[in-house]
This record gives sequence, C-alpha cells and structure tokens, in this order.
Amino acid sequence: AHFNKIDELEKSINAFITLSKEEALKAADRIDEKIKNGEKIGLLAGIPIGVKDNIMTKNLRTTCGSRMLENFIPPYDATVVERIKSADGIIIGKTNMDEFAMGSSTETSYFGATKNPIDLERVPGGSSGGSAAAVKAGEVALALGTDTGGSIRQPASYCDVVGIKPTYGIVSRYGTVAMANTLDQVGVFGRDVKDAVLMLSSITGYDEKDSTSFKNPEGTIIFGSFPKEIDYTNYLKGMKIAIPKEIFKDDIDSRIKEEINKSIKVFESLGAEIDEISLPHLDYALAAYYIISTSELSSNLARFDGVRYGYRAKEYETLDELYINSRTEAFGEEVKRRIMLGTYSLTKGYAEDHYKKALKVRTLIKEDFSNAFSKYDVILSPTSPVLPFKFGEKIKDPLSMYKADLFTVPVNLAGLCAMSIPCGYIDGLPLGLQIIGDKYKEANIIKTGLGFE
Ligand code: GLN
Repeated sequence: AHFNKIDELEKSINAFITLSKEEALKAADRIDEKIKNGEKIGLLAGIPIGVKDNIMTKNLRTTCGSRMLENFIPPYDATVVERIKSADGIIIGKTNMDEFAMGSSTETSYFGATKNPIDLERVPGGSSGGSAAAVKAGEVALALGTDTGGSIRQPASYCDVVGIKPTYGIVSRYGTVAMANTLDQVGVFGRDVKDAVLMLSSITGYDEKDSTSFKNPEGTIIFGSFPKEIDYTNYLKGMKIAIPKEIFKDDIDSRIKEEINKSIKVFESLGAEIDEISLPHLDYALAAYYIISTSELSSNLARFDGVRYGYRAKEYETLDELYINSRTEAFGEEVKRRIMLGTYSLTKGYAEDHYKKALKVRTLIKEDFSNAFSKYDVILSPTSPVLPFKFGEKIKDPLSMYKADLFTVPVNLAGLCAMSIPCGYIDGLPLGLQIIGDKYKEANIIKTGLGFE
C-alpha cells in the first residue's frame, strides 16, 4: 500500500532519493513468517520507515544529497539502522535532504528539491525535508532524520508532523555521516507524539561504537508507561513551563506570535504553570552556531578528496589537481561556502577572534539554559520564526535562510532535547511549537507533547 502511494505521489513530492522495494517486501515476508511461526515480533514490526540519506544502509545507496556520493553503496549499517531492522521495522528507502545536511529547505540537494505536500509551491523545510514530507504524505509511517541546528524540528514544523531531536548522546551516531560532531544528533519523525516516541524508544541506547554515546539512557524516555495513561492532559497539571521573552522581540511574524499565545493559553487551561523568563545570550546563538558548525564541517568534509571514496574528477595531472577538481565538480555552492567559512574561522590568527569566541558564547548559552532548567520542566517557543516559504525565496540570500533556524540552534549548542509539534495553521500553512527539555529529560518533552496533543 505504501509503495502504491509512493508511485502516485513521488513525481510531485520527490521525498526519496533511493527506494528499496525488493528488500522491503522481503523484510515484510520475513515478519509474516515470524508471525505464522508464533515467534516474537519487534516493536516496529511491519512499519514502513524512511531513512535520511546521510545514514548508512548496507548495500543501499547513501548519497548525503550530494554528487560527491552519487554512487556510494555503504558496506555496513549505521547502528540506528541495525536497531530498526532488529525491531522488525521495514526500510522503504532513503529520503531527500539538503546536501550534506546544510540548509533549511532541501533546495541544495543534488537530486532536486522536495516539495511540501501541504503546498507544492513551498519548501518542506530542511535539511531532513524528505523525511518530513514522506511522513506527511503517508509514503511512510515513520522516518529518521538528523538535527545539527534544527534539521528535524524545522521540517517537522513546515510539514505539520512531529519531530524529536533527542539529547546529545542518547542515540548512536555510528554510521551517520558527520556534519558538525558536537552538534549532530539522529532523531525521529512521526504523525503524532506516540508514533515518534515508539521509534525513538527503539533506537535509543548506549553504543560502544560511538564515543559520545551516553551510558545510562534508561529513564530518559517514558517508554513503557505512556500508553497506560488514559487522560494525557493530566501530565500538564503542575508542569512548570517557561517562555523566553527574547523570542517575541525578534522580527518574528506577528501571526506566529498570536498562534503561540493561543497554545500557551491551552497549557494554562490544562493546569500548567507558565512564567516568562530571560535567556539573555539567545541573540548570539545563530552567530556562534554558524562559526562552530562551519568549523567542524570544514574539517569533516576534508575526507571527500576524490581518493578514498566518492566522486573522482576525470581530468587532473597532479595530486593537488585531483583533490581540487574532484571537490570543485562534486560539491554544491552551499557546501563550498561553508567549507570556506569554516576554514577561515579555524585559520591561525583568526581562530582566537572567531572559533574560540564562539565556544565561549556557547558556554554562556548553556548556562542560560541550565539556570532556566533549575526552575522549569520545559521551555516553549515557535519552532521557526517564519512559515514555510516559497521555492527560490531564500536560496539566493544565505543569511535569510540561516535565520529560519533562529530558535532551533540554541538547543543543539546546549546539547538539549526538543520536539516540534503541530500547533495550528496560519492562512493554510502549518505552524510548529517547540518544546525544549533539559539534557536526558525526554520524559518531560514527551509528556508535554502528549498532554498538548
Ligand atoms: N539549517 C541548519 C543549517 O543549515 C541546520 C542544519 C542541520 O540541522 N543539519 O546548518
């Protein structure tokens, strides 16, 4: 049924880079077999799942949305993929994304942009736009994404689905192509909170293959307990919720402010205690993020040299020319821009002024959040300061594109967890509410999400 849906919709949406029909149908047959034989089946048994194309899938092409990896077939599965398979989930295909996860619209993909299923003239958000669109369109029931500065939450908001970026370290990144190691996290998309949590609970957990993996994630997610509650709104009684006043002073769309205020009233009416707080360093988050993330990614992308794997230029005479021509021909404009920015920030003589200063700002932002979380359970904000925009509207102006992540990047800088949950429509376009929780306090954002939903 899902492949029929894909046949019908893919021409207009383009959520997938590669499909895996044969393997998926075989996996489904294996689960049928298990059921017939009375064997135990996993938590994700039979569920059609999309995997963002920067996550390794054994024998299934993994491109990162780039010409550089157009023909790259990984010899192994990422840990998250292994976990989906061992929970009997069915991987339908690899979803479209901004090239190497750099972007907020999926327009930088070498394989063409993904369209927002709600309005085909608008972007689905990014970089995990393919995953969000595939879930919204019903091409899959669940999807994996990655979130370095908002790439799960912002597309979830633009496509009217739920997206969770877990706490840094609770989901293994082994086998996920790194963009910025200190910020990257694998997370999930679902049609509602329960679906998303089901998937999250299947992929969370310590992995010795990832040195940043957290050892004791038990208790971070209220797995077993949430389906038993009959009235989820009970979760909100006495919940301490903070609203940072800084989010309303920015040049955010006034209709978004209004809608968010309506959601705040809903929380109040369900018994939550709401206070306004200040996160004084939020203003510097975007600048710090673009220095730190470009520094890290410029170093990570050095491995794509045309020698070890990926694209190799046809014409070159010297080794330098091999590197230069391969990278010139296979990387897109945004990737090149960021490699240059990051290389600049790390260069001796400039690193003190840029990279090191950004690290200090990051510490101040972390402190702002830890002060807030000493008193509050969750913090709310809009997921994005703007509604889903039209194709071409921001792609020529990188700074305006970067601003779409104003409210999501601080969460990655501080290593926290956050969810985007649909909270209304403005002129036919969806709006997401961001629920931010402290490190390892997934239970709080999940309870808040379930109560609100
Ligand atoms: N849109 C942000 C960026 O372009 C976030 C990317 C991401 O989270 N992978 O950097």
